[in-house]
Amino acid sequence: MPSVEERLAKNEVMFRAINERIRDLAVRFNAADEPIGFICECADETCVEKVPLTLEQYEEMRVLPARFAVVPGHEATPLVERIVFRTPEFVLVRKVGIAADAVRRLYSAGEA
Ligand SMILES: [Zn+2]
Repeated sequence: MPSVEERLAKNEVMFRAINERIRDLAVRFNAADEPIGFICECADETCVEKVPLTLEQYEEMRVLPARFAVVPGHEATPLVERIVFRTPEFVLVRKVGIAADAVRRLYSAGEA
């Protein structure tokens, strides 16, 4: 049975896959400098809040697979993630420990 951390990581990897599509569309429509409404990549699978990130901010964030963007207040416990960067509009978090391992595994398994 998957651990709680694994389940949370799986949600976030799924949101990441959706955001990759949003990014592709933004690139196609050349929406360069304005913030784009990416989906909050928090652990709540029912969350549909939008995180306003420019393409540049998004690209920079996803360089590391263990980094995710969430709306302020949607950070998980410090056991599974650390805050990297905070603005009034969004919070960048980085998975740590078991959750980071779970993210890596999901990526290498090609599920993302
Ligand atoms: Zn959220």
